[in-house]
Amino acid sequence: MFDYLVVGAGFAGSVLAERLASQLDKRVLIVDRRPHIGGNMYDHHDDAGILVHKYGPHIFHTNSRDVFDYLSQFTAWRSYEHRVLASVDGQLVPIPINLDTVNRLYGLRLSGPELVEFFAARAEVRTPARTSEDVVVGKVGRELYEKFFRGYTRKQWGLDPSELDASVTARVPTRTNRDDRYFTDTYQAMPRHGYTRLFERLLAHPNISVMLNTDFHAIDGVIPYRTLIYSGPIDAFFDYRYGKLPYRSLEFRFETLDRPVAQPVGTVNYPNEHPYTRITEFKYLTGQEHAKTSIVSEIPRAEGDPYYPVPRPENATLYRRYKALADQTAAVHFVGRLATYQYYNMDQVVAQALKTFRDIAARETVAIVPRSNATEADLARSGTPPSVDDTTAAGARIRSTVRCRTVAGDTRPSGEGDE
Ligand code: FAD
Ligand code: UDP
Repeated sequence: MFDYLVVGAGFAGSVLAERLASQLDKRVLIVDRRPHIGGNMYDHHDDAGILVHKYGPHIFHTNSRDVFDYLSQFTAWRSYEHRVLASVDGQLVPIPINLDTVNRLYGLRLSGPELVEFFAARAEVRTPARTSEDVVVGKVGRELYEKFFRGYTRKQWGLDPSELDASVTARVPTRTNRDDRYFTDTYQAMPRHGYTRLFERLLAHPNISVMLNTDFHAIDGVIPYRTLIYSGPIDAFFDYRYGKLPYRSLEFRFETLDRPVAQPVGTVNYPNEHPYTRITEFKYLTGQEHAKTSIVSEIPRAEGDPYYPVPRPENATLYRRYKALADQTAAVHFVGRLATYQYYNMDQVVAQALKTFRDIAARETVAIVPRSNATEADLARSGTPPSVDDTTAAGARIRSTVRCRTVAGDTRPSGEGDE
């Protein structure tokens, strides 16, 4: 009997598995239907030996010291500040829009204060900014909105920005200085040895068993457990009882080029041309040195793996109905980007998982205190796993980093087709 069954080996599931095993001494089984751990963060070396991200470029950034310190127990870091150029009017110019973007696009020599006036003269009054169009047009005016945001957003989401919540384009700020970093968070770094290594260390605790190539629905009712942590799509969990929640998908096209550098920065955005939205060159992110280089382009799709919840009012309303069901479902915790239908970055998902753990631990305090005399705060502070006296009796232990057999009889090797 497992204490916890965790569905999904991305950050939501893996962080909870790690905390439950190391801090509460729980027996945890984590399952993922994919042939690898790491969720969307999974990275691997391609045929040329270049480290690539299978599900699109993942750049870690956070303002949360707690999140950064927590993950630092499982990885060393490489400092990396992401820079993005947008292909607009035949030029590559910085995005987020900044002083250099406007000066280069219009052949001007504005100062910062002059750019404030430039924007003010063009911005339309859009208060409150309810949609993704309002946010941008309300700050920089219609022309820059059309050059940088309208086409990209229509491609990415299959919707006009006026049909999407303000929060979507509000992710990309506007600047009146020359800062050309995509993010300004306090901590900006990549796991030095990659995300997959980080996840291997997260899940290395002897109380944790991993099953890959395993859909939750195939084992539910077969493998006994007490409590469920679910990080898959929430509508699927409830058999789409109220209908499907829209998730946007992507097709990733990888290419290895026979030259050391492909483009001037980590990512180039293509708001107005090509079916893809952006091209990312991995060596910028990872710092790897190699005679060749690998890139990925992202082509938005309506069908496929669910990658993005689609933030708009009717979807929020439908999600709330599923959330009400989730709240009534005993012994199940819904965590992560798909299960809580939130457009979360990695750090937000880690923070959400740590919060869920604290809530679980608070409820289990009575059970913890006699074991170690530790207070909950001590446990939360401690990064050291408590000693585990029985590491071998977990019955169905399946260490599946090389090969796993699922209860559904699927014997595909883990990582097949990926390495
Ligand atoms: P996931 O990583 O999606 O993990 C969920 C796991 O559950 C999956 O592995 C899935 O296979 C498994 N699963 C689902 N249903 C079942 C089932 N029924 N049975 C078994 N397993 C199941 N964030 C950043 O901070 N920085 C970035 O640069 C960044 N770039 C991104 C680029 C792209 C293209 C995308 C799509 C996302 C990006 N993100 C980025 C967001 C990041 O991917 C998410 O925040 C993160 O993946 C959320 O983790 P999670 O554990 O909630 O979900
Ligand atoms: N966006 C845009 N043009 C850009 C960059 C972003 O229109 O050059 C919009 C688009 O709607 C995108 C959203 O802003 O989906 C958020 O961008 P971000 O780079 O954060 O997207 P993600 O990395 O999550 O795919």
